[in-house]
Amino acid sequence: MSASRLLGITSTIPVEVALAGGWTPVDLNNRFITHRDPGGLVQQAEDRGLPRTLCAWIKGMYAWCLRHPEVAALVGVTRGDCSNTHALMELLGREGRQVIAFDYPGQDDPNTLNLAIQNLAGELGAGLERAEAIRQELIPLRKNLERLDRLTWQDGKVTGAENHLWLVSASDFDGDPNDFAQRLEQFLAQADKRPSRKPKVRLGLLGVPPIISGLHETLEELGASVVFNEVPRQFAMIDGEQGPVQSLAEQYARYTYPYEVGARVADIAREARRRNLDGLIHYTQSFCWRQMQDLVLRRELNLPLLTLEGDQFAPVDGRTRLRLEAFVEVLG
Ligand code: SF4
Repeated sequence: MSASRLLGITSTIPVEVALAGGWTPVDLNNRFITHRDPGGLVQQAEDRGLPRTLCAWIKGMYAWCLRHPEVAALVGVTRGDCSNTHALMELLGREGRQVIAFDYPGQDDPNTLNLAIQNLAGELGAGLERAEAIRQELIPLRKNLERLDRLTWQDGKVTGAENHLWLVSASDFDGDPNDFAQRLEQFLAQADKRPSRKPKVRLGLLGVPPIISGLHETLEELGASVVFNEVPRQFAMIDGEQGPVQSLAEQYARYTYPYEVGARVADIAREARRRNLDGLIHYTQSFCWRQMQDLVLRRELNLPLLTLEGDQFAPVDGRTRLRLEAFVEVLG
């Protein structure tokens, strides 16, 4: 595939449409956070003039794109994800990138969602029938992601960190769904043979993917396991208790992340019951509008909740570790 067919995405979009148009999806968040020097990318963006008081994910994605001109086109989720994406797209448009906006409508508006998917297909030169066929082709892969999730919360054979990495990578399947599916099969075969572990404290991790590294591992050291990664699980479009969907529009209407926070509360409450969670950690990113949703999650979820805030790419610091330790101790 020629490099000009790489399609940067700022968040989860109907990836089946991108694949139907012959594009290779590249989730900019994943590329930033797995870069060998994420801090250097943020610094580069600040050196260019982006403010210190701007979310580090946005700066990281911006600088990553500057270093990768082969990603000639980008889809920015300008409604339902991040209030900064609009300006990010403006900047990258001025760097010569083709920028396409994708807006999630209200969750109760299937017609507008259908229209948004149709528009995206038009922009990406994709046929909707082909996109629907790809949705069906991806069902076994998504079922395997569900199996991986169960190996985490039911069987204790997959760690919270592994669960996070696989599910978060499902936004773009690392650019190649076939290769991803094969690697996942191999991983599951190997994980199945592991002995089961019974975590002393069962946690759910809510919110945007943490920029701080080693959070899951630190919790394991403290005797707690993350058995629910809320947003990564959403990225993976796992059916769970709700049963299978029948169309692309239904799949992306069920996806809670871009919609009103009530959809997230209902999903978290359902999964907390199913997974028998003892407590929740809400990760928030400095300078992110989603920090405000912490109020709702605290009020409406009936479980102990610890809010953590991260700013820059760095390992868990001493103060955070102490807070986690105290939380786990109380729950234990
Ligand atoms: S963490 Fe918040 S501000 Fe940062 S990119 Fe994500 S949604 Fe936007």
